[in-house]
Parts: sequence; structure tokens; C-alpha cells
Amino acid sequence: STDECPICTELYESQGDRLRALLHCHHTVCQRCLAALQQRATDRSRVCCPLCRQKTPLPQWEIRSMQEELMSHMGTSSPSTPQPTP
Ligand SMILES: [Zn+2]
Ligand SMILES: [Zn+2]
Repeated sequence: STDECPICTELYESQGDRLRALLHCHHTVCQRCLAALQQRATDRSRVCCPLCRQKTPLPQWEIRSMQEELMSHMGTSSPSTPQPTP
């Protein structure tokens, strides 16, 4: 079956950490393992497939969302939305 991540052998899910991510080489890994691959990569703009070593450039939005997630983990207080004064 190709419905499980080859790295962590967990089944893919339609949402959350186990979303299926398709690489350029047509291998698939889950989002969680993709994030781990990216963290270990020297060049964060692309990940190296653990199965065939082919590199896949990551879309900008994905890098951004990961950076935002990282920021929230670091405990940076996000600027609160200005409250309209009556
Ligand atoms: Zn995985
Ligand atoms: Zn591959």
C-alpha cells in the first residue's frame, strides 16, 4: 500500500501532521516528516528525498507557514489587532 509514509510508516490523513506531501520524484511523505527533513536541510528552500535523494523545492507558502509556526513556538507575542474605540 502507498497510503503510509515510508519514513514513519504512519497512514496519511486528510488533515493535520499526516497530510500527504508529494515530492518532485513522486515519492510521498507526511507533512511531519517533510518538516523534519526541512529542519535538517542546510538549504531550507528545498528538501532531499530520503528514498532517492532527489531535491524538491518547497513552495513559498509552506516555508512561510513553517516559519510562523516556529515563531509561535518561540513565544513571540503577536501584535494584537487594534481594537476600535467607540
Ligand atoms: Zn512520516
Ligand atoms: Zn524520491
